[in-house]
Amino acid sequence: MIFIFSSCKNELNNQINNTKKIIKTKQTSERKEMIIHILPLGNVNATILDFIKKSIYNFYQIECIIEPKQELTTDILAASKTRYEASLILKKYNSTKNTLLITEKDIAYNNIKRKVKEWGILGLGFRPGKTCVISTFRLKRKVSDAKFRERLQKVCIHEVGHNLGLPHCTYNSFCLMNDANGTIAQVDKEKMFFCDNCKKQIGMK
Ligand SMILES: [Zn+2]
Ligand SMILES: [Zn+2]
Repeated sequence: MIFIFSSCKNELNNQINNTKKIIKTKQTSERKEMIIHILPLGNVNATILDFIKKSIYNFYQIECIIEPKQELTTDILAASKTRYEASLILKKYNSTKNTLLITEKDIAYNNIKRKVKEWGILGLGFRPGKTCVISTFRLKRKVSDAKFRERLQKVCIHEVGHNLGLPHCTYNSFCLMNDANGTIAQVDKEKMFFCDNCKKQIGMK
């Protein structure tokens, strides 16, 4: 059993896009026309879905639609069959519509850098792209509901940030676009904001 946290690894795209490639970010006008479809994978508490919808709107002014849940199927299980493989989830549900997948089950991915095949994560998102997946499993362990919601809000904003084209932030260690570097402590350290550099990249005021 791995008890390692990671807020996000958007390496699916980092592997393809090396740092020299210029990635187009979504600007304010494009965001205003965007709709994000929140897609529950398996049972997800309805108040949590509504909380995510409100959080995304408050931060980005992007409207979300909560879609009917999809069943968790065996084809997206990781090799150990004890958790789900985030990259398989993204491949399966990668859509032409902006989609935020959310599950209460544990998700992991093959962390090549750390040589861990099932590295437990909080979320994974394409950069830029239309699909991200978030798991509440590691966010809610041993914390109050208020703390859990704060973490969830941060991880959702972070993953949607990747979809909008934002890379990890190296300018301000409190900015929500920092790489969690394998610890949930980083998520807890971050404040509910984007630094000026990240804001500028997506034309946010
Ligand atoms: Zn990230
Ligand atoms: Zn930043």
